[in-house]
Amino acid sequence: MRLELRTATAEDTRAVGSAVGSLLRVGDAVALSGDLGAGKTTFVQGAARALGFDGHVVSPTFTLVREYRGRIPVFHVDIYRLVRVQDVLELDLDEMLSDGVVLVEWGDAVEGLLPEEHLTVALTTPWSDEARRLELQGTGPSWEVRWRRLESATREWRTAA
Ligand code: ADP
Ligand code: MG
Repeated sequence: MRLELRTATAEDTRAVGSAVGSLLRVGDAVALSGDLGAGKTTFVQGAARALGFDGHVVSPTFTLVREYRGRIPVFHVDIYRLVRVQDVLELDLDEMLSDGVVLVEWGDAVEGLLPEEHLTVALTTPWSDEARRLELQGTGPSWEVRWRRLESATREWRTAA
């Protein structure tokens, strides 16, 4: 299951994050990949908003994880800047997933950390303007069930491809 989107502005990326966020529930893992400045945190801002959190969402820099208290707990993990693999291994993702939703920002070096069942969002900047390309990929039966809804919720950003 795969979807390709184009967001012209940061607010569009936030809106896609909200569309995805409104489909998330306890136990869901979302992996965001892309270079620094690609829009990973911007996406998380929208997702957290849809999950009922109206506070400030920034990338966790010194802490590896930030927890937002919305309708359900949202765990925002940023291992993009992480240098020590050891720190990643110490993250108790299972514990977080039993309580809420986990959104992880990373380069793409740490594959295999997430549960089998997850959504990946790859952000790139293939165009000459500020627009971002978002490639969403769902793995597992629960995403199969939700895919139609995800498609219709993100219809306005679909690319021709
Ligand atoms: P990352 O977490 O991937 O390092 P951020 O979300 O922190 O990236 O930063 C993305 C920056 O790019 C923000 O300053 C945002 O306002 C800007 N931006 C411009 N256009 C877009 C877009 N289409 N989507 C997302 N962010 C955008
Ligand atoms: Mg970030």
